[in-house]
Amino acid sequence: MPVLTEPYPESRSRRDSWILSLRQDRNPVDPRRPYGFFVEEEMDLRGHLARTAVIMLTNRECPWRCVMCDLWKNTLTDSVPPGAITKQVEFAMDRLGPVEVVKLYNSGSFFDPRAVPVEDYAAVADRLRGSRHVIVESHPALVGDRVLRLRDLLQGTLEVALGLETAQPEVLQKLNKGMTLEQFAQACDYLRGIGIGVRAFVIVQPPFTPEREAGYWAKRSIDFAFDCGAGAVSLIPARAGNGAMEALQTSGAFEPLRITTVEEVMEYGLTQKRGRVFVDLWDAQLMRACAGCRELRLERLRWMNRQQRTALAIDCKDCQDAPATV
Ligand code: SF4
Ligand SMILES: [Zn+2]
Repeated sequence: MPVLTEPYPESRSRRDSWILSLRQDRNPVDPRRPYGFFVEEEMDLRGHLARTAVIMLTNRECPWRCVMCDLWKNTLTDSVPPGAITKQVEFAMDRLGPVEVVKLYNSGSFFDPRAVPVEDYAAVADRLRGSRHVIVESHPALVGDRVLRLRDLLQGTLEVALGLETAQPEVLQKLNKGMTLEQFAQACDYLRGIGIGVRAFVIVQPPFTPEREAGYWAKRSIDFAFDCGAGAVSLIPARAGNGAMEALQTSGAFEPLRITTVEEVMEYGLTQKRGRVFVDLWDAQLMRACAGCRELRLERLRWMNRQQRTALAIDCKDCQDAPATV
């Protein structure tokens, strides 16, 4: 496991180099194919469980170097040629069957022209005809005219997912996202001003956040996202696996989180009734949990995701009597 031998770098450029130096190899990916695609059901704004396509586009990696990010693993070092993203969307849509909602996630920003060529927008929008809502992700710094361009080409409505990560300003700065809370709020204002929905990604227990503060800051992050007008918040359990996170874990700056923290934050988010709250369970096995109730707790989170209501708490004698195990 890599070790952080010196203090965490203060400057952006030194942090970038340190984060890059700890990376492992990328996974082999094909510019003609999305690196993943599947269908899930997600409750929409109207309270309807919508058949939703999730398409993970293969493209050039994001230019930012967030310390917790592992999305670069399924990216390319060069831009894809015009037409490739359209082909990827077509490939997935042909195999997924009819869907109401499409999430086009691209391990970075849809509005980064080096990741998704602007020339592809019209053809992509054409392939998405028939879906009534499209969600793409973007760094707040890239929210601008290209959003309008995509919005005007789509048959359905557009929603942009922005990484808030955390409302704790010092931690946000250390995450190396190159974004302030004010910039996040400005991007939300812009999107709402042009009639586009906002979804915020919030990390539960990011690095530099002790376990005892994790629930508090995740809840404040949910509050902040809804204050900015987000219609949905997606909670992302922090995970190791990119080199830098392992180094931070060894130095004590990152602690793998307990599933019970995620449950507590999810319950809080749902009871606010300010918008939808989801938990990303794609890497659920990385959360710490007691062996006796892990599956029950996961099922509880899945249920809350689908129903958008709190579920009865899990009463487990094992984890009340003893600390949760890894
Ligand atoms: S902005 Fe998003 S995709 Fe880019 S490095 Fe940060 S977390 Fe990863
Ligand atoms: Zn238990």
